[in-house]
Amino acid sequence: MKGQRMAAKQSTMTAPDADQVTQRAEEAGVRLVRFLYTDNGGVTRGKSTPLTFLRQRIDDGIGLTKAMQAMNMLDQLAPVDGMGPVGEIRLVPDPATFRVLPYAPHAAAMTVDMLNHDGSPWEACPRSFLKRQIAACAEAGFGVQAVFEVEFSLAQKTADGAFAPVDESLCFATTGFTISARFIDDLVEALEAQGLEVDQYYPELGHGQQELPIRHAPALAAADRQVFYRETVRNVAYNHGLWASLAPKPFPNEAGNGAHIHFSLWDNDGERNVMYDAANEYGLSKLGYHFIAGILDHLPALLALTCPSYNSYRRLQPHFWSSAFTAWGPDNREAAVRVPSKFKSDPSGSTNAELKASDSSSNPYLALGGLLAAGLDGVRRKLLPGKPALVDPAIYSEAERAEMGIKRYPTTLNEALDNLEADTVLMAALGPLLGQAYLAVKRLEWASFSKEDIDFEIKHHFWKF
Ligand code: GLU
Ligand code: MG
Repeated sequence: MKGQRMAAKQSTMTAPDADQVTQRAEEAGVRLVRFLYTDNGGVTRGKSTPLTFLRQRIDDGIGLTKAMQAMNMLDQLAPVDGMGPVGEIRLVPDPATFRVLPYAPHAAAMTVDMLNHDGSPWEACPRSFLKRQIAACAEAGFGVQAVFEVEFSLAQKTADGAFAPVDESLCFATTGFTISARFIDDLVEALEAQGLEVDQYYPELGHGQQELPIRHAPALAAADRQVFYRETVRNVAYNHGLWASLAPKPFPNEAGNGAHIHFSLWDNDGERNVMYDAANEYGLSKLGYHFIAGILDHLPALLALTCPSYNSYRRLQPHFWSSAFTAWGPDNREAAVRVPSKFKSDPSGSTNAELKASDSSSNPYLALGGLLAAGLDGVRRKLLPGKPALVDPAIYSEAERAEMGIKRYPTTLNEALDNLEADTVLMAALGPLLGQAYLAVKRLEWASFSKEDIDFEIKHHFWKF
């Protein structure tokens, strides 16, 4: 996304309630409604209900064993107290997220909260974690608009079962438009049908790589949208006999896939972009600088939430435009936080910042919630981000980077997890149960992948996110 032109004011359309959603499902001829959650391994899973029981299950939810929040992306169960064969929570859908799925026959979906039997949020619920961070920002006086700006690789399976990119097209080149035109047309239709407004489309640098950003939304809706977006891309591709990988580095020798998080801060009425200050050199307010500084300060730990897979660290290399250092900079695509130039027509409305150190193997509720917790800590401590990087931070000498407070990222998931475990702010925001379960799941992933070779890594990351 090249900028965020916003009216952040909440839509005046009220979200549908349980009865309206049930009626819409009936009218659309839906047979099964999926209740979708995203787990600590970043995988979206769910259970579905036939229409007959939909209305009741919107209230009661569907039962799920607590153990699923201890399961990693290889379906291995990590040892977490209370997450074994005994104990259940309820998957309770949010009717505001209801969507008829254009790519699956007679199907609809909603994202869910994980609730205790008394209806209170379960301590290990990622969506409730994000809601808590949104509430904390609101209490500090601002709301957050965001979007995950996703890149993905479009591939086909070769006779020997390997994945190969659909094209060798150049960056933004029209040959790329040609080869994927039919797929992209269906994808745009499917996204728009679900209210995910398309912002742009272009073939990206890597072979078969595509970028199709959608519009921003209030933070909770932005995370929900990332869930529906990932589902839609993979499913539409599959219906074309293709495989869309949103993994960070599905082809080790090609450009990686980011899911850059664009964000902006608004007053609680959604009227005014409080990240903007016309008088400042880069058009950013004090609040904006504090928030960005908080993100940079926590980034070595935050990465464990925003770039959380084994494969993530294959992407985060210097000179690949993915960012590899805790730097910020105006229009700097090698900086962890890029401040995009503003629109001439609406400098205030288009002010936003972009976290490049983020990919689609994350659980979007944890990634965005972590970003908010880190930013808010910067606001509370009135941190400042230091001098902007005006060149690729890899070009600075060690001494220059040290002077500017710029650090190289951890180079493995395991290091990022160590940092997360030691980060008292992020761990407190997650809370003991979610924090402990998350670390256990990710440590097990690390242990399993580090024993295996790259083919195993690619195979298991290619199509899950
Ligand atoms: N593909 C790059 C990444 O891994 C981003 C390229 C760009 O859009 O600046 O994040
Ligand atoms: Mg891009």
